[in-house]
Amino acid sequence: MTNKFVHILGVPFIDTTRKEFITRLQDRIEKREKTFVVTANPEIVMHSLQDPAYKQILGKADYITADGIGIVKAAAIVGEPLPERVSGYDMMLDLMEMANQKRQRIFFLGASETVLQETVRLVQEKYTGIHIAGHHNGFFDWTDPTLPQTIKNSEPDLVFIALGFPRQEQWIGQHIDGFDQGVFIGVGGSFDVFSGNVKRAPELWQKLNLEWFYRLVKQPSRWKRMLVLPKFALVVIRGKVFSKG
Ligand code: UDP
Repeated sequence: MTNKFVHILGVPFIDTTRKEFITRLQDRIEKREKTFVVTANPEIVMHSLQDPAYKQILGKADYITADGIGIVKAAAIVGEPLPERVSGYDMMLDLMEMANQKRQRIFFLGASETVLQETVRLVQEKYTGIHIAGHHNGFFDWTDPTLPQTIKNSEPDLVFIALGFPRQEQWIGQHIDGFDQGVFIGVGGSFDVFSGNVKRAPELWQKLNLEWFYRLVKQPSRWKRMLVLPKFALVVIRGKVFSKG
C-alpha cells in the first residue's frame, strides 16, 4: 500500500478513507507490525506549533489521521484535499467490529473507573468475539513501570488509549519503544461516548459538519478551547496566501 501525505502546518496527514485505513491497520495487526496512530484535530496541530516536545512525539507516529472537519477543510484550502474525516471514535467502533470477527485482543486504557467498567461491560456484551486483554483507568502514576509491563504481558493486538489530548500521545510516545506488537491509538473521550456518559451529536448535525457546535452547546466550558479553531483557520489561510507569493 502506498503512502500519500497532506501536510497541514507541518503535520503530515495520511491521505486515506476510513475504510482503507482500517484495512491497512488490520494488515499490520496480522503482520504483528507495531503501530502508533494519532487522530489529530486543529487543536493538536496548533499545539504542535508551540510545543517542540509534542511535535517530536507526532514525529514518532506511523500515521496521523484527520480527526475533525477543520483538518479536511484546511486540506482543501491548501489545494490537497483529503477524502474524509477519519476520527478516533469511528475508528474505535470499526476496529472493534473487526476484532470481534477475528477474535483479537484489546487493552482498554483510560477514563474514570466508572466509565471504563461500563465500557468494558458493554464491549463484552456486544462483541462476544473480542478478548479483553486487560483494562486500566486513566488516572495512574506515570512513573510506575508496572502498567506498561502489564499491557505488554497481555499481548494485545490493539490498545485504545483514552487519556485525552495531549496526554494520550505523550503516553504512547513515552512507551511505544518498549512494546513488541500492537496498534496503539489515542481515542480521546471515546469511552465516555461509548458508555453513554457523553452524548455524540445527532447524525444530522454530524452530516452538516456541526459536531463542534453541538459539543459547544452541550459543554459550554469548552468554549475557550474552541478559540483555537478560528486561529487555526487564519494560520492556514495566511500560509496559503504567502505561499502564492
Ligand atoms: N482522562 C484520563 N486521564 C487523565 C485525564 C483525562 O483518563 O489524566 C480521560 C477523561 O476521563 C476522559 C478522556 O480522558 O475520558 C478525555 O478527557 P478530556 O475531555 O479532558 O480530553 P479531550 O476531549 O481533550 O480529548
